[in-house]
Amino acid sequence: MFWSHNEHCGSTRVDYARNMSPELSSPLFEEPEGTIGAAVEKPLFADIVFDRPLDHAYSYAVPPELAARIAVGKRVEAPFGRGDSGTIGYCVRVSDEVPTRAVKNLKSVLDEESLLTDALLRLTRWMADYYLCGWGQVLQAVLPAGVRDQAGTRESIFVEAIVEAELPKDLRELTKKQAEVLDKLRREGCPLEQRQLAKLAQCTTGVIAALLDKGYVRRFVNRVERLDISAEDPPHTHVPITLNDDQLQVFAPIETAALGGGFKAFLLRGVTGSGKTEIYLRAIEEVIQQGKEAIVLVPEISLTPQTIERFRGRCGEVAVLHSHLTDSERGAHWRRVAAGKVNVIVGARSAIFAPARRLGLIVIDEEHENTFKQESTPRYHARDVAVMRAKLENIPIVMGTATPSLESWHNAHKGNYTLLSLPNRVLERPMPLVRLIDLRHEPKTGGIFHAISPTLQKGMEKALGSGGQVMLLLNRRGFSTHVHCTNCGHVATCERCDLAMTYHRGRNSLLCHYCAFETQPYQKCPMCSQPTVRYQGLGTEKLQAELLEKFPGKVTERMDSDTMQKPGSHRKTLDAFREGAVQILLGTQMIAKGLDFPNVTLVGVINADVGLHQPDFRAGERTFQLLAQVAGRTGRGARGGQVLIQTYTPEHPCIALATKHDFLKFAEMELAQRKEHQYPPYQRLARLIIRGLNEKAVQEFADQLAELFQEATRSPERNPPHAVGVRILGPAEAPVYRLNNYFRFHFQVQSASPGLLHQVLRDVVTKAKSTK
Ligand code: ADP
Ligand code: ZN
Repeated sequence: MFWSHNEHCGSTRVDYARNMSPELSSPLFEEPEGTIGAAVEKPLFADIVFDRPLDHAYSYAVPPELAARIAVGKRVEAPFGRGDSGTIGYCVRVSDEVPTRAVKNLKSVLDEESLLTDALLRLTRWMADYYLCGWGQVLQAVLPAGVRDQAGTRESIFVEAIVEAELPKDLRELTKKQAEVLDKLRREGCPLEQRQLAKLAQCTTGVIAALLDKGYVRRFVNRVERLDISAEDPPHTHVPITLNDDQLQVFAPIETAALGGGFKAFLLRGVTGSGKTEIYLRAIEEVIQQGKEAIVLVPEISLTPQTIERFRGRCGEVAVLHSHLTDSERGAHWRRVAAGKVNVIVGARSAIFAPARRLGLIVIDEEHENTFKQESTPRYHARDVAVMRAKLENIPIVMGTATPSLESWHNAHKGNYTLLSLPNRVLERPMPLVRLIDLRHEPKTGGIFHAISPTLQKGMEKALGSGGQVMLLLNRRGFSTHVHCTNCGHVATCERCDLAMTYHRGRNSLLCHYCAFETQPYQKCPMCSQPTVRYQGLGTEKLQAELLEKFPGKVTERMDSDTMQKPGSHRKTLDAFREGAVQILLGTQMIAKGLDFPNVTLVGVINADVGLHQPDFRAGERTFQLLAQVAGRTGRGARGGQVLIQTYTPEHPCIALATKHDFLKFAEMELAQRKEHQYPPYQRLARLIIRGLNEKAVQEFADQLAELFQEATRSPERNPPHAVGVRILGPAEAPVYRLNNYFRFHFQVQSASPGLLHQVLRDVVTKAKSTK
């Protein structure tokens, strides 16, 4: 079921949630007491949170032998849950305040050092409350596994020279070699790893052992990094760019904020190629000058070698956190950041949790990207978490994009964010010309459906003929996306999900894109046994086959999650494209973002309508963003470029406005609709999914929840007749009713008041947990 049962144990519940509020301005958490190590007479108590959906911490007594080691931000083992088994949890508070109930003893303290900074503790506390999940769950998700298990480190023996003042009286004489080694060690002025010293002084460990025996040195064990993760190649230095007038205007307030400190949120709207990244770099340079650090969030797919290179060239020590890191590498980066050895942390959404201790600035590029939203617990949005972190650390945050999310746009208009704009490309480069191809009026060749219309084909021939390169976007992978029987109407659907299967020719199978269920393709219909199965619908694999047929002399590469599975393949393909070895690059939205290829003179969109008809109120916004982004991929060099978009609905405003690069009109239109339908950003919206393997049980539970919602919203102050209330829609079957064998119902909960919405949800969730 969706939430787990309530755990019982003999420790005291500490309900932190009572005084919490999701408002940004509220004090979140009293300052956690720091490390309490020194002589302690009073007994100590520690509050522990576990990786469970619990909204409170549990108190434990700290036995005297652990008093020196316990600290906020360390992991502990404590009796918890069924049978009081030893369970790992996180210490979030240490105090000598005696709990009102009898408590149990902690079993052990696991970490040598606190894994969290104070700011991260407060941030994760806020997340637990805001996203209605356990604080322990947040901590577990936020701390990389490689940090928890110290992956990438090993224990090593260190040797330290004993200072003269501490030397014992009965010193024994040293041999010449021993004296020489001791001298080397003293000159270093700090402890050395034993094997390092042996190498340096060209001695055996026997010599060092003798020094130890005679009382001149001491030995101890410490953890050291196994990996050297400092940048492989020294970065190029970049020629400084003189900011143009627009950039100067935009930069001035950001610079002031970066210098003066203090929380301030900027929304930087700048068309593709308007020089936003240059602004980020300048602001970061200011911050580094002051000895502070910056976090830069970018969508995973924008973490290209070019981007990384650009930051390395300007910012010195840069840590890059991407999803292909091993646990050891991630752990090593984390420790390097925590030790203050890094100026800038660049990474995908989880980089917002980097343990920088002197953070001076946060930048989010492509702030509208939905990959900043995490799809598993805690279901956070990195942009919202970033704003909160900036607020907590009292520093500025810059959010940049060509197509702001309507939430941020709305925030800018309400004055919560300062709006800055770069309306033009640098160096007076024009925006690319975008033309629509109306597929309803394109001549069909012999009744066979082709992905590439005659008009697009002509455009490609022209671009390729004059030495240009072409990018084609099709946001669907696989060969045939619709496999069905023309006799009985049967559609190939997943056994576990209510979703159509996609035929993949390369692996010769029918594949579910949600749960990866795979089965043999068939020619005879499994229902009516007729040989009338049709493989229709177009994916990137089929598009590539068509390209090979239509452009036999050209080299084509495909980028989608099927071809990009091996680490490094992304880079390899893009390098080949950049060098001109590949003339046509096709792919899913992977190719749409952040890439910068001056020689691309034509971008083609195979089907602009793919995303429009999703059951999601953001479908139109996503389509606009994607088209605007992909349109920005061309005309970046001196050669200019054009964009051809194939569509069956050229009159659709999202498509029509994207072709004109008209964000302002789009936002105005879309916001009016959101307002009318009471959708975000005008109303807060929460979606609750109830899922389970037993259909009947899920339905019953959904009905119980419906009652709880009724109860929770009945009181007049929560549903005043003429003011803001809370609206509940559901339970209804989720648009995809069955996913991975789970039956799913959902509720949509709406309110203009975030506080009220939150109260109701918390009420219902708490009650539901206690009835389960
Ligand atoms: P964006 O992030 O808005 O897409 P970039 O900062 O990447 O834009 O700038 C696009 C290109 O223009 C880059 O190659 C960058 O080096 C260059 N550029 C940026 N600002 C200037 C400027 N003031 N003068 C000349 N070139 C610039
Ligand atoms: Zn499936």
